Amino acid sequence: MTADVLVVGAGLAGLHTATLLARRGHDVLLAERRPALTGAIRTTGIFVRKTLDDFPLPEDLLGPPIRRVVLYPPGLRRPVTLDSARDEYRVGDMAPLYAAAARTAAGAGVRLALGTRCAGRCDGGWLLAGPEGPVRVRARYVVGADGARSRVARDLGLDRNRHLLVGAEEVFGVPAGDRTPTFHCVLDPSLAPGYLAWVVDDGRHAHVGVAGYADRFPDGLRRALARFRAGAPGLPPGGAPAEVERRGGPIPVGGLLRRIGGSDGLLVGDAAGAVSPLTAGGLDPCLRLSELAADVLDDALRAGRPDPLAHYDGAALRARFRGRLALRHGLAQVRTPAAARAAFAVLRTPPGRAAARRVLFGDRSFPAPGRSPRATASEEAGAARP
Ligand SMILES: Cc1cc2nc3c(=O)[nH]c(=O)nc-3n(C[C@H](O)[C@H](O)[C@H](O)COP(=O)(O)OP(=O)(O)OC[C@H]3O[C@@H](n4cnc5c(N)ncnc54)[C@H](O)[C@@H]3O)c2cc1C
Repeated sequence: MTADVLVVGAGLAGLHTATLLARRGHDVLLAERRPALTGAIRTTGIFVRKTLDDFPLPEDLLGPPIRRVVLYPPGLRRPVTLDSARDEYRVGDMAPLYAAAARTAAGAGVRLALGTRCAGRCDGGWLLAGPEGPVRVRARYVVGADGARSRVARDLGLDRNRHLLVGAEEVFGVPAGDRTPTFHCVLDPSLAPGYLAWVVDDGRHAHVGVAGYADRFPDGLRRALARFRAGAPGLPPGGAPAEVERRGGPIPVGGLLRRIGGSDGLLVGDAAGAVSPLTAGGLDPCLRLSELAADVLDDALRAGRPDPLAHYDGAALRARFRGRLALRHGLAQVRTPAAARAAFAVLRTPPGRAAARRVLFGDRSFPAPGRSPRATASEEAGAARP
């Protein structure tokens, strides 16, 4: 089999990159090991305001806007409530959102091979193991959109993620009511060492989750989630939900990798480490980096040589993450409930609240250069819809 570009992994990064390239007339094969994009979801699906402003996400697949964040210390006493004057977050209905993105990709001409695992390089091509047996694909370029533990990164000899959190959450429907849609965050290293435990209740669904450094959970990730779930703040009253969806996965928080492209291909999304080291948000970065990836691959395919891929430079972009990497380092140091309580003493002061507002409600997003996503979105009149 041949293709101009083989994209490995149909998460948001792979779907978006594949769609943009197909829109520009290239022959794109997108291989995804999951048999259906609606299963084994690895994200809460919180989209931040900047993403909602810049990318035409399907309105009917987004939950109600969230403007309130409540931050809790260990023990949950005296939380700090922050309200924004703007709509800050919306939670995507991820299963249909991925399905819609797959339809958009197919409509653009992407060949989507589900249930098809990329087993690595072989004989000058790439080996795919699919429902009809193994196939060798010859592609001019390969895109590693295969997540935090990217095999493509290894096979292309590019950088790989070393600093990872692991996260797990439960998702279930909640009764409608007059509750204010709220994002509850608990800073407690015994539940979420190095990160946060969270409850998001947007009035339609609740997401209850924890994430942290795998080797620091006192009794493992699953037990931490069960402990948190038993006393989680902000859940509507009522018994255990009848149906619970479980999600989880690794989250790279070491910042954008330096070497994310070479003459045979490049990395996007989690594979490239394109996740905010502080907030662990990766949906906005994966969409923005995919735009840059599609630009340089389009240039390279048109030029008939790989030189434009030299512009796909993780080291240059990484420099703009210094502040967030420093804050990640700080959060990683909060190792005891006493340290978390001390952090809350600062958070309750006016400068502490102002700093928290900047992180949670700020205008910064992933600093990808190149064509602005807004321009791309309007040019393609909805084609960029992930
Ligand atoms: C529990 C959790 C909650 C999160 N919540 C949020 C949030 O609310 N907001 C936010 O902004 N970010 C969040 N993140 C981070 C965000 O979800 C990711 O950064 C983003 O989804 C990355 O997209 P991706 O396409 O790069 O990777 P993925 O979505 O992981 O997609 C990679 C794809 O590659 C496929 N694949 C892997 N290997 C192969 C192979 N060899 N062959 C074929 N296919 C392969 C996988 O099956 C997968 O479909 C969360 C992460 C976790 C773990």
